[in-house]
Amino acid sequence: MSKFSKLVQKQKENQSSKKHRFNLEARTNANREVVLCSCGSNKSYKVCCGVFHQDILKVQTPLELMKSRYTAYVLADIDYLLKSHHSSTRPIKEADEILQWTRSITWLGLEIVAAPKPTNKEGFVTFKAHFLENGIKNNITENSRFVKENEHWVYIVGQHS
Ligand SMILES: [Zn+2]
Repeated sequence: MSKFSKLVQKQKENQSSKKHRFNLEARTNANREVVLCSCGSNKSYKVCCGVFHQDILKVQTPLELMKSRYTAYVLADIDYLLKSHHSSTRPIKEADEILQWTRSITWLGLEIVAAPKPTNKEGFVTFKAHFLENGIKNNITENSRFVKENEHWVYIVGQHS
């Protein structure tokens, strides 16, 4: 192995251990209920998305649902990700893959691009979710559609741009 490839290898190892530590910290802090919520609200997790993760019926708007889903990705809360998904598009078979993926990356932040006022049946949110994957910054830009199922808001489909 050349000196250079050894260096690259070492850097990769550092990155992956840092990533792991970050996710672990986020989870531990969320358990302690003292950390700022990952959705960017500047509120504590406990009084922000934590409320929705405890009881999805408390979600009042598509924007709240979207933010709570982002935070669930950060915390690798697959149960909430499935629960907040419409049953017709719920990715049950892909659940393990989603879990592995979200644990393998570092979420960097959520940016809301547009959240027009919803009707009482349907709403849309456009967002950018930033993350670091294999040391490279990337983002998901999506226009998500939300509807109601079982008396609460759920995510049904998204259009990537
Ligand atoms: Zn939040």
